[in-house]
Amino acid sequence: MTRVHIQDLSIRFGNHEVIKGLDLDVNSGEFLVLLGPSGCGKSTLLHTIAGLNQVSGGSIHIGEQDMTRAEPSQRGVGMVFQSYALYPTMTVKENLAFPLKMAKTPKAELEKRVAAAADMLQLGPLLERRPAQLSGGQRQRVAIGRAVVREAKVLLLDEPLSNLDAKLRTDLRRELKLLHTRLGNTMIYVTHDQVEAMTLATRIVVMHQGVIQQIGTPAEVYEKPNNLRVAGFVGSPA
Ligand code: ADP
Ligand code: MG
Repeated sequence: MTRVHIQDLSIRFGNHEVIKGLDLDVNSGEFLVLLGPSGCGKSTLLHTIAGLNQVSGGSIHIGEQDMTRAEPSQRGVGMVFQSYALYPTMTVKENLAFPLKMAKTPKAELEKRVAAAADMLQLGPLLERRPAQLSGGQRQRVAIGRAVVREAKVLLLDEPLSNLDAKLRTDLRRELKLLHTRLGNTMIYVTHDQVEAMTLATRIVVMHQGVIQQIGTPAEVYEKPNNLRVAGFVGSPA
């Protein structure tokens, strides 16, 4: 299993410093939720862990390795975006298999992993459909499945449920928890939804304007907020 160790990380776009000297240790196998208002830098931080942004200062270790400047494909992380970027002309099965094809995974292994991911995400009956023939929730399951097939040690999820209706969000939250139990991998999950953070997280990181305000279990953050900002944000229902 793999921990993520972030030290004095800064990310700048022009002269706008979006992440400001951030330190964060993500424990191996934990479900860490990054929570904060829109624009506070959650996606920027996640993209940076995935290797999609240039670092202005500091370092990122994944496992024992310094990955601060490594290519995204070398980092052993999988990423699920807010809008499920599925390939429209491919079937569900082909979408799931695509990352493995790119990695030149042998056919037998590929079939095995696709079947396992389809089973975990209840996609079995949908394998021959194309994205246009799926509901929003089903599409997002495929997007999660596509990250799961790669058996990444660290899974990064950027508001994966925010485009779905309330009932579906509740169902998928439960599924994500089960998935985490089965995979036992490290999850870093971004949301601006307090309820989502409370139900999913082993620990919550509350962010404001590129700075961590508090890190704690859901109960700690809720019951003993460090400051008024955390109290105001976590205390008030979405
Ligand atoms: P969140 O995900 O918490 O809503 P973001 O990380 O998307 O916040 O954005 C944080 C800030 O960084 C915002 O002010 C946004 O405009 C800015 N930002 C994000 N990505 C870029 C980029 N590629 N270029 C310039 N500014 C960016
Ligand atoms: Mg975002």
